[in-house]
Amino acid sequence: MKLTQCRMCLSKEFEMFLDLGFTALADNFLSPGKLHDKEMFFPLRVVLCKNCGLAQLDYVVDPTLMYNMDYPYESSTTKTGREHFTKMAKDIIEEFKVEDGSLAVDLGSNVGVLLMGFKECGMEVMGIEPSLNIMKKAIENGIATIPAFFGKEAVDQILKEKGQASVLTATNVFAHIHDLDEFMESASALVNEKGIFVFEAPYFKHLLDQLEYDTIYHEHLSYLSIKPLVAFFERHGWELFKIEEKTIHGGSLRCFVSRKGNYPIQGMVKEYLDNEEKEKIHDIERMKEFAVKVKEHKEKLRNLLMDLKKQGKKIAGMSAPAKGNTLLTYCKIDTEILDFVTEKAQIKIGKYTPGTHIPVYPDEKLLEDKTEYALLLAWNFAEEIIKNNEKFRKAGGKFIIPIPEPKIVE
Ligand SMILES: [Zn+2]
Repeated sequence: MKLTQCRMCLSKEFEMFLDLGFTALADNFLSPGKLHDKEMFFPLRVVLCKNCGLAQLDYVVDPTLMYNMDYPYESSTTKTGREHFTKMAKDIIEEFKVEDGSLAVDLGSNVGVLLMGFKECGMEVMGIEPSLNIMKKAIENGIATIPAFFGKEAVDQILKEKGQASVLTATNVFAHIHDLDEFMESASALVNEKGIFVFEAPYFKHLLDQLEYDTIYHEHLSYLSIKPLVAFFERHGWELFKIEEKTIHGGSLRCFVSRKGNYPIQGMVKEYLDNEEKEKIHDIERMKEFAVKVKEHKEKLRNLLMDLKKQGKKIAGMSAPAKGNTLLTYCKIDTEILDFVTEKAQIKIGKYTPGTHIPVYPDEKLLEDKTEYALLLAWNFAEEIIKNNEKFRKAGGKFIIPIPEPKIVE
């Protein structure tokens, strides 16, 4: 579905600045049986709202196609990820002196890692997760979870069973939601008068600065910055009152929102706004410069890989996150360059990357095959992945970190 109005300010004035072509759905890893079926490709283009400055995709894929039974992302896969979420729960409870026994609800709660943190601290918890196979794992982890998208129905069920929530969280979910007005309606019904909504999402400024264009894919509908967010929450009678920056996912923002007047607006909100103005991150000229850099990056990465290939080197991809598929598809990296990609998540092993059809194996395959270069697709976890693959490095294996500048790590 083509976007007709800005989801934050409702303006109809856009300007397109980045066209990444047509890509398959980034999380739709293909089982061998589906490899020869017709695969769906959708346009991947980013536009800037001329009114509020929100960067967003101009084509919205039906969410039921994206978050289906096979949705493979498990938030507990990496140690860095688990520690991040446990600490997040503790920090929120301490700072806002959340009462024992009050309710925390997490949207897109995945296998329940964040909610486990809240539960350990004595809160009641409830998850909302549309992927059935992931939801089942959350239940196995002892986290009550409703198999649904966030909306009136799920909210009504929670209100009936548990009452209103003191804390509503969404990590890497808010930027995935198309109808944000409907979202705010549901959030207003669910969260109690003094309650807070805390969400984490990648910061658009980092995407621009660090050339993280691979984080652009169909699930990520909005590329968030503070200026459009402030105006959006204001329109709904809420306030963005605090911002923290986190290193996860290549630089994320943790935003704290509540009903107007509940909490003093902290000084950093204005600092962010001033800085965004200074850095021109809502300026179409800056966006166009970014698009040029993306094109140049594609050439650099392809040249590096093709040179190695010409030398007869064996190259594989390491880790297969959703964003890896934007990079692979846009840079036209397929089985002619990569022998395979490896991945820890069982759910992807034995399948093929969407669009580029590269087979996915466990990490051991790198040693078995005497792979010489590993292209790190989950570059944001580079440190942890390199540490975990000490054997590969000792066997002479080298890592290629693709973003922001392709570089070889020996
Ligand atoms: Zn707008």
